[in-house]
Amino acid sequence: MEPIELSNALQIHRPETGKFVGVALYRLFRLVAMEDILGTGASAISYYAGKKMGKELHLKKLEEFLALCDELKIGQIEVPVMTEERIHVDVHECVTCSGLSPVGRALCHFEGGLIAGAVEGILGKHVQAHEVSCIGGLGDKTCGFDLEIGS
Ligand SMILES: [Zn+2]
Repeated sequence: MEPIELSNALQIHRPETGKFVGVALYRLFRLVAMEDILGTGASAISYYAGKKMGKELHLKKLEEFLALCDELKIGQIEVPVMTEERIHVDVHECVTCSGLSPVGRALCHFEGGLIAGAVEGILGKHVQAHEVSCIGGLGDKTCGFDLEIGS
């Protein structure tokens, strides 16, 4: 079975329909179908998938990542803390969860993985993202990710 490379998946030919889909379709897949099929394993798989994608983007600068988030309409991104040891990223209007009635747990593992993978590629250091606040999961103002930067 031939793997589907990211570069291949990103070749989009939809001249009439365009390159965006409704948030509902994304959420149906991301929140409902994945959890139905994978159960609690869905979080780890989503994080891993996001991280792999983030790294494969081969970005060089944080600005490129912010531009990509804007283009993909992940949400409104802010980076209020950025030091050598610590980065904090806030996502407003998160594509995965903004507007949900809180379910008592963070939901945006794919976004966390994507941020971690992209920053890992940019810094050339191990990066792990922890979702410390979540709009739709926990009722917070933003989906906030603390990035733990290793060696
Ligand atoms: Zn969230």
